[in-house]
Amino acid sequence: MAKYLGDWTGDYRGSALAVLRPASVAEAQALLRLCSELNLGVIPQGGNTGLVSGAIDGNGTGLVVVSLERLNAIRRIDPENFTLQADAGCVLQTIKDASEAEDCLFPLALGAQGSCQIGGNAATNAGGVNVLRYGMARDLILGLEVVLADGELWSGFSGLRKNNSGYDLKQLFIGSEARLASSRVSRSSCSQNRPASRRPISALPRSRQPSRCSTGRAGPAPI
Ligand SMILES: Cc1cc2nc3c(=O)[nH]c(=O)nc-3n(C[C@H](O)[C@H](O)[C@H](O)COP(=O)(O)OP(=O)(O)OC[C@H]3O[C@@H](n4cnc5c(N)ncnc54)[C@H](O)[C@@H]3O)c2cc1C
Repeated sequence: MAKYLGDWTGDYRGSALAVLRPASVAEAQALLRLCSELNLGVIPQGGNTGLVSGAIDGNGTGLVVVSLERLNAIRRIDPENFTLQADAGCVLQTIKDASEAEDCLFPLALGAQGSCQIGGNAATNAGGVNVLRYGMARDLILGLEVVLADGELWSGFSGLRKNNSGYDLKQLFIGSEARLASSRVSRSSCSQNRPASRRPISALPRSRQPSRCSTGRAGPAPI
């Protein structure tokens, strides 16, 4: 259990009643439902790279660690819409590599990208070295599916870029650092891919892409 109880820097050590490692959304729901019924607090853990002991129980308050490492599939890549769907435990580098294989760019980039997970990136609203050009994790996530504390599934899962239907509730979870619901486990983020500038992908001829050429940023032109 040791690897789930310590910060990789060695600065923080914690404890846990148990470490749970769901491999599917259904398992995550069942485990959180059980913890809720037993009145056990849980703490989601991604790649544990956060550096501030947010993913470990440093105070020894008897929490259960829920590691997302087994919930790590890329579900879908859509290079025409510049989107992908991935489980919360998907390592950021895996997402970047999969995007690259489709000649796309997933622009979130940080030192921990070989270990941190997209769910952790969402929970911390990670910025990284490309933040000035492409924005924070908040700006790259189009939709979320979230397992709530009682095991209920909240679906705000969308790949729709122009979505003005009411409140953007997913933003409540992004950057919450698991505080809003300590047992929150996001399953999938549908993240915006922007094509690598060296080789833009589009069904449109180049002459019809003024926004891409003029700003250097990709994505559909504003409507
Ligand atoms: C070398 C290095 C460089 C970094 N550079 C940057 C940088 O440039 N910009 C930046 O913003 N950050 C940076 N970070 C910190 C960065 O925010 C984290 O590394 C990363 O985003 C956290 O992801 P993680 O999967 O490791 O999450 P963890 O460390 O495992 O968890 C972080 C928090 O998120 C929660 N959490 C994790 N997964 C989930 C989930 N699936 N659902 C709900 N809550 C969850 C945890 O409970 C915890 O509160 C850096 C870290 C390192 C080690």
